[in-house]
Amino acid sequence: MLRRKNPGARKASPWGLIRIEISHKSRREALRTSWLCQQKCVPMILVLRTDATQAQIDHIHERIAEIGSRPHVSQGEQRTIIGVIGDEGKPQIETFASMPGIEQVVPILKPYKLASREMRAADTVVSVGNVKIGGGYFAMIAGPCAIESKPGLDGIARAVKEAGANILRGGAFKPRTSPYSFQGLGQQGLEILREVGDAHGMPVVTEVMDPRQVALVEHWADMFQVGARNMQNFDLLKEIGQTRKPVLLKRGMSATVKDLLMSAEYILAEGNAGVVLCERGVRSFEDSTRNMLDMSAVPNVKGLSHLPIIVDPSHATGRRDLIPAMACAAVAAGADGVHVEVHDCPEKALSDGPQALLPQQFASLMVQIRKLAEVMGKTLA
Ligand code: PEP
Ligand code: MN
Repeated sequence: MLRRKNPGARKASPWGLIRIEISHKSRREALRTSWLCQQKCVPMILVLRTDATQAQIDHIHERIAEIGSRPHVSQGEQRTIIGVIGDEGKPQIETFASMPGIEQVVPILKPYKLASREMRAADTVVSVGNVKIGGGYFAMIAGPCAIESKPGLDGIARAVKEAGANILRGGAFKPRTSPYSFQGLGQQGLEILREVGDAHGMPVVTEVMDPRQVALVEHWADMFQVGARNMQNFDLLKEIGQTRKPVLLKRGMSATVKDLLMSAEYILAEGNAGVVLCERGVRSFEDSTRNMLDMSAVPNVKGLSHLPIIVDPSHATGRRDLIPAMACAAVAAGADGVHVEVHDCPEKALSDGPQALLPQQFASLMVQIRKLAEVMGKTLA
């Protein structure tokens, strides 16, 4: 900051101009501050030395704050790395490269920073209640499209749990194409879901559609679901990012893999690290299935990101007869889980009946999934 040496003392220059005395120290400080302000920092990863001292780490954090960026610390088994995320601009790798305690500085070139594999080499494991997803842990999420009644949900939960599902799903807030279709039971549905989940010892996941519903859903559920229609509801993503509840983020029906990862980035950037991605098919010219299941998204995402990815063959195909084959294909493709809709009387279901598996079909599918998960080295707890 420019500072007058003696604010009261104006000295007349030979040219009749007023000269302001600036001390050497404040001039240096001024130059340094303006230099720092101009250094728009490209996102980068600081790989810390294994012997970095706390004082060195504190100093690194100070410098990150000084350039107006945010640190995202990732504690690996071998190494600690700090993601430096802020405005995009020219790389200022040199700023950090010469600092004690830092072994290496690597720019993150991908537009999704925190979600990228560069940021974290190891797979992220997301915990939903007592169930783990990712890094070798496999999730089997099952339940009806919508919560319709307590006895109805209870019967379905009992059946899917017995067959081997480890997370119960059910929608209380339903995003329906028609405003005249069943919209869900709202809070009453959430209460039923919680009660039934607890009765069967299953964590529960349910959709949240609006930032105003976040606190309510956070209270009743173990995991948020962001549906395909809301994948780019950025206010919703930011609000969920403020919580510490895990999120099942479904791919939008016309979203690219990059779009999906950018949406995950919104949640991660707010400090919520528990994101599980979900491939649920995208719109295409093919009209014999509800959507087109992009199975390549699974290995694709695995290469680009450390986040777990699961597959939802129910919404992807919309057809009961195709779901088992696609669920098995998902396991073979390396998915960290499968998400399917199950109903004991699909013809009476208030939403998505045609794609609901019957409980006995789900049980047969689970036999295959267990075998495949084992082949793929996955643990299904
Ligand atoms: C659902 O899970 O019931 C749902 C509406 O899914 P999607 O957002 O994938 O269409
Ligand atoms: Mn559904």
